[in-house]
Amino acid sequence: MRRWRGLALALAVSLGAMPAQAQARLNVVASFSILGDFVKNIGGDRVDVTTLVGPDGDVHVYAPTPADVRKVADARLLVVNGFGLEGWLPRLIQAAGSKTSIVTATAGIAPLKAGSDADPHAWQSVSNAEKYVANIRDALAAADPAGAEVFRQNAQSYLARLQALDSEARLAISQIPESRRKMISTHDAFGYFAARYGIQFIAPTGVSTEAEPSARDIARIIAQIKTQHIPAVFLERIGDPRLMRRISEETGAKVGGTLYSDSLTDEKGEAPTYIDMVRHNIRTLASALAN
Ligand code: ZN
Repeated sequence: MRRWRGLALALAVSLGAMPAQAQARLNVVASFSILGDFVKNIGGDRVDVTTLVGPDGDVHVYAPTPADVRKVADARLLVVNGFGLEGWLPRLIQAAGSKTSIVTATAGIAPLKAGSDADPHAWQSVSNAEKYVANIRDALAAADPAGAEVFRQNAQSYLARLQALDSEARLAISQIPESRRKMISTHDAFGYFAARYGIQFIAPTGVSTEAEPSARDIARIIAQIKTQHIPAVFLERIGDPRLMRRISEETGAKVGGTLYSDSLTDEKGEAPTYIDMVRHNIRTLASALAN
């Protein structure tokens, strides 16, 4: 009898000391791929993260599926961008009817204005991405207090990488001749990048890919490219590439390559992580605008 009790006690002790991997992981849903990457970097082995809008998806015009409703209902934590990026989200949350905690990753960031609306693309400044990471770290710690120290350490090492990336971006853009630090891209996704790193971006469509540019908008942009000698136009993975190609043909501005604005690629692509995405963009800009 005493031996059995001892065994039961030993079993209870070993269950209590189980490593994090064997415990139920924190179930986190992120609205789109870039947020999913931040959660992965901070949560490590303690979280299972799924994204609603996956690689190469367009978060502006997403239509949630019944499977998404279940994902949100089952999640402990839902990570969203805010600033009006996920216009489809309130209905999804209502349909899920869950008590899932929601963290807005842009909390504490002063939004740039795009017309009368907030520009949602705050992650395009690496300095803002550092605030996203701090917000996500704190939300993970609140949902899983036992993991708080792990999240703090993971965030600390990831933040050090982001700070290095921010310096890399500043240096790369500063080496482009000042008169050539201007470009045009598919939709107005680089306002925060422009403000942080000092490069002029012009876009034929607004901050959402939903809007189609008018003939007048396009004529205005073509005139602007000619008078300001804008050296290059860039394509994006989302949005319609045909317009950029047409503008390139009509103005003689070269097509400088593809930039990643609102989504990562899958593992085999050029931008499977946020850090890869920013690095790809600065290299593409630097090589197209250098001379
Ligand atoms: Zn966008």
